[in-house]
Amino acid sequence: MKIAFYEITENWQEDYLRAKLFGHQLYFYGAAFSDTSLPNKDAEVISTFTNSPVTPKVLEHAKNLKLVTTRTTGFDHIDLAACAEKKITVSNVPFYGENTVAEFTFALLLALSRKVYPAIKRVREEGLFNYDNLRGFDLLGKTIGVVGTGHIGQCVLKIAKGFGLEILAYDPYPKDSLAKDLGFKYVSLDELLASSDIITLHVPYMPETHHLINKDNIRLCKKGSVLVNTARGGLVDTESLVWALQNNILAGAALDVLEEEGFIKDEAHLLGQGHPNEQQLKTVLADHELVYMDNVIITPHNAFNTIEAMKRILDTTVENIQAFAAGKPINIVKK
Ligand code: NAD
Repeated sequence: MKIAFYEITENWQEDYLRAKLFGHQLYFYGAAFSDTSLPNKDAEVISTFTNSPVTPKVLEHAKNLKLVTTRTTGFDHIDLAACAEKKITVSNVPFYGENTVAEFTFALLLALSRKVYPAIKRVREEGLFNYDNLRGFDLLGKTIGVVGTGHIGQCVLKIAKGFGLEILAYDPYPKDSLAKDLGFKYVSLDELLASSDIITLHVPYMPETHHLINKDNIRLCKKGSVLVNTARGGLVDTESLVWALQNNILAGAALDVLEEEGFIKDEAHLLGQGHPNEQQLKTVLADHELVYMDNVIITPHNAFNTIEAMKRILDTTVENIQAFAAGKPINIVKK
């Protein structure tokens, strides 16, 4: 098969894939594709990543396409309905980094709770060794509210136990035996927001979860609580988040994902897209405001990024392609 890989930016990835997909015609691209920079038109398989959206225009262009296999867990960059219409199979990597993202969730949480970033900055950039404004808070005995108890959420729950955190969880599909085994309680989202010192999101982004945290429920958050988002930016209404931080409802936020992260990552993108609509512009401005707040930590969608997770992603992508080629596709994503 003709297989085109996008956003392959490290040499070892190409070598690794070439060794495992011997016999196929492979094409590697460091760049992302888009509606204005379309992918290989002959590809039968496209392996995509977060910055390469699979749109109707892309599908119209790649006429031989049979399989889209994304090297991510999330699939909100793929138009599933358009793929279904063209009978194109979509597969993802469901499990590569549940521990990886969960570990990063705690990296962000500890960075926030113990003011690690300003502490390091003080020593490195200012050469100062004082404690002014560096007092943090313990995790032991605090309540963490885990929104979404899927693969990543479950790892977060287990790590949370190790820190001696009390745990609440919300999931529309509660797993009662898990709650029993790990000793936590499922509550409504409103109750979780009202009772948690730490709120952490591990939910996929889809129409039903758009602005799961919004202007109506963010005001319910326990005063002084912190929000950690390593899932997707669109789960949180950015303007409401800025409002909650400015009005001392939330004491801090740690975000690996932003609602308009594409825009903020590459402002030149804005020019290419023409004038953004007012809502997008407002969100971009609110994101910028967040970037400069002292009680907000933002990382560049880096939670998945470990050596082990990268290898697991490629291994599963290879398995997805081989299974599809053998007529028994696996890890299929459907609307
Ligand atoms: P998963 O599918 O295993 O679990 C998702 C859970 O969310 C399920 O238990 C589901 O029932 C629950 N859920 C669905 N709708 C909900 C709602 N409205 N409210 C609360 N819970 C709801 O997914 P996962 O592997 O745990 O991953 C979670 C998300 O993390 C992914 O969808 C992806 O967006 C994100 N992610 C981010 C990174 C990163 O680098 N920052 C890496 C991987 C995944």
